[in-house]
Amino acid sequence: MHILLYDTTLRDGTQREGLSLSCEDKLKITRELDTMGVPYIEGGWPGSNPKDAEFFRQVQDEPLKQARIAAFGSTRHAGACCADDTNIRALVEAQTPVVTLVGKSWTLHVEKVLETTLDENLAMIADSVAYFKSLDKEVVYDAEHFFDGYRANPAYALATLEAAAGAGADFLVLCDTNGGSLPDWVSRVVQAVKSYLSMPGRRLPHLGIHTHNDGALAVANALAAVQAGCVQVQGTINGYGERCGNMDLIPLIANLQIKLGYQCVQPDQLRRLTEVSNYVAAIANLNLDPHAAYVGRSAFAHKGGIHVAAIAKVEESYQHIDPTIVGNQKRVVVSELSGRGNVRMRADELGMQLNGKEQVVLQRIKDLESRGFQFEAAEGSFEMLVRRSAADYVPAFELLDFTVIIEKRGDNRIYSQATTRVRVCADVIHTAADGDGPVNALDSAIRKALLPYYPQLSEVKLVDYKVRIIDAHRGTAATPRVLIESARGDERWSTIGASYNIIEASWQALWDSLELPLLRDREKVAQM
Ligand SMILES: [Zn+2]
Repeated sequence: MHILLYDTTLRDGTQREGLSLSCEDKLKITRELDTMGVPYIEGGWPGSNPKDAEFFRQVQDEPLKQARIAAFGSTRHAGACCADDTNIRALVEAQTPVVTLVGKSWTLHVEKVLETTLDENLAMIADSVAYFKSLDKEVVYDAEHFFDGYRANPAYALATLEAAAGAGADFLVLCDTNGGSLPDWVSRVVQAVKSYLSMPGRRLPHLGIHTHNDGALAVANALAAVQAGCVQVQGTINGYGERCGNMDLIPLIANLQIKLGYQCVQPDQLRRLTEVSNYVAAIANLNLDPHAAYVGRSAFAHKGGIHVAAIAKVEESYQHIDPTIVGNQKRVVVSELSGRGNVRMRADELGMQLNGKEQVVLQRIKDLESRGFQFEAAEGSFEMLVRRSAADYVPAFELLDFTVIIEKRGDNRIYSQATTRVRVCADVIHTAADGDGPVNALDSAIRKALLPYYPQLSEVKLVDYKVRIIDAHRGTAATPRVLIESARGDERWSTIGASYNIIEASWQALWDSLELPLLRDREKVAQM
């Protein structure tokens, strides 16, 4: 059976605190969702801000493969007529094939928030739906607070749906707007709606579900609704949304398709799930939770030595699905909990030969982790450790020593200067540089020494720098751990340092981050 996905990342998703998308961002996400096979994309609320209105203008020129764009807005105002209503006019001007109208199902909202009568609310729903049907639009009716409204007054909540259905709505979407429902309740209410609207003299359009995650049940509730008969599911990529978020389409798609046998997208589109999740996170400027189900970096990461030994024999022994179905991959994490198997498999994944050095590398990892390093988060440093253990390892450079001076002067400004000595082949280079802070000054001094020998380092960017305190109870004497993330084009690697001195920890992480791309380059040249 086919389930119709309805994405509202661009509207409900942007209500997440701290998330803001430009018009260009919204167009990029639209193209990605279209390629992913999402049939409905809600672009925004054209009456609410000029950016959304601009999106609806520009999206008309997009050559979309299959997706239909929806504009979202509320039913007409109380006592108004549709043709003159500002909400309705903005929706008309958006010129979308689909119009999604939100209306009230809960008597509390009608009487206390809208401050109108129950009858007028029914008229507002029916008039607004009929108006857009007369304009030949596909109309999705979102029944706001339906599950709470049904609990408070089931007869009235059902009457609002009957009004929308009678006026010709193509979909009735039951919304758990406050996100507090449980799956069993959702299932019972969907069944009640179905039997009510199936009675003679009434009309039953397709049903849809829109849930929020306030009880951490948005996906579970949507699955329950589908199993009870809903065919449209509304949600956002990565569950972005207000408060605790919207229903996350990513695990929903995977669960529906892999576990329950429903059809949402094509298998090759399903393989893009991990990519889409990461792509949208990158545009939203948010880090994707590494532990996100199905698509997180750690979703199929194995750390315990026993687990790793088992998956080396039978891959599914510790995995609920084959990760490649959703475009993710199995990963072996190397840490002090590892056995030799972890080290061997991780090195294999990197395409590196250990030549019997597993035990040496493992011992080195355990020593360093006892001093505060943590290799599971620093695969670049793990790779350096393997490379340095090779018999034919020749360092690209060596960092010999450094001095860092930090001065707070009378003008209240802080000055940082670093000097360093670096060896490249037989040369020892002495450089100095200023920086915004001590680590920045050190980074600049090291690069200044290396660039004449390795001009390709100008493309290596430091994209993230994090400090974590390991033994916080020791206060300012605690050991900091420094993690550096570096990038060159699409290539990314993370490296680590740990020392009681934060500058030394940074120096260690910088060393690995700069030597790694040089060794990779050298290997590529050797293979040519
Ligand atoms: Zn919502």
